[in-house]
Amino acid sequence: MKRIILATGNQGKVRELKEILGSQDIQVLSLRDFPDIGEIVEDGVTFAENALKKAKTVAEATGLIAVADDSGLEVDFLEGAPGIYSARFAGEGKNDLDNNLKLLSLMKDVPDQQRIARFRCVIAVATPCGETYTAEGICEGVVAWEMRGDQGFGYDPLFFLPEYEKTFAQLEPDIKNRISHRGKALAKAESVLAGVIERVEMEQCGLG
Ligand code: IMP
Repeated sequence: MKRIILATGNQGKVRELKEILGSQDIQVLSLRDFPDIGEIVEDGVTFAENALKKAKTVAEATGLIAVADDSGLEVDFLEGAPGIYSARFAGEGKNDLDNNLKLLSLMKDVPDQQRIARFRCVIAVATPCGETYTAEGICEGVVAWEMRGDQGFGYDPLFFLPEYEKTFAQLEPDIKNRISHRGKALAKAESVLAGVIERVEMEQCGLG
């Protein structure tokens, strides 16, 4: 059976990729299957740099095709912050609520038309032969005036979609998955990945 590895320990993301690869005869492994790899420091200055670093490191360490993602929220009024620092916006050791409260306080008196924001996700694919690919997905919205909804994670309660009149945290999960930055990036990466899997299998990096 063909094997690929998702450069994350997050089983939710592994499940998502398995669903997308659907009926294909592919075993999806994760960093949990390779505990020796340890933590990969995300020190890039873009989502793409971070995703590529994770995918390349894991492809080299395992000899498998590796897939990694990096994502975050960009607020125009804050000149793109929190961006790549989304997970640790309120500081190391702080949680999603702390991040949301910090964002709310920074946006306290900012008028509606200046509350535009977007989630961005980059998915990187790296082969053990050194080839790399990226796919990006974006979801546009605005920063809400207060937290609403209890689904999802991260900044979902503050990310308001005017066309649905709901925050990501109020939206049905299957709708969120379809329109989200991650869903769009995964949809783009799917065909790239299918082609790469087939090619690497056939060529074995030009050695076989
Ligand atoms: P990562 O790409 O999983 O490392 O996510 C980085 C951070 O961006 C998360 O910790 C969240 O704070 C934020 N983020 C990324 N995607 C989402 C989303 O779909 N909803 C809410 N927050 C998100």
